[in-house]
Amino acid sequence: MGALGKDFIEWQTSVMELERRGEEFARRIADLEKENELLQQRLLENEQGSGFDALSGLYDDGFHICPDQFGKPREEDCLFCLNFLHHKGRK
Ligand SMILES: [Zn+2]
Repeated sequence: MGALGKDFIEWQTSVMELERRGEEFARRIADLEKENELLQQRLLENEQGSGFDALSGLYDDGFHICPDQFGKPREEDCLFCLNFLHHKGRK
């Protein structure tokens, strides 16, 4: 194989790598869009119904409701969120 053939293979490899990254990126965007949609839906419910119910629902769905990290996905219980729910719920 001549130098040209080698260049072609390298070029092909980087195109494939770019395609792979593009797909990964598109998937990540789709995930974010889904998440965003869910959040917007929740915010809408928040405007319509009881704010406290909407917030505790949001927390149950796995999102932060504490001011620091509001709307970010939550992997475990967050003390700030729980504290927030606790105080709001007592009113
Ligand atoms: Zn939190």
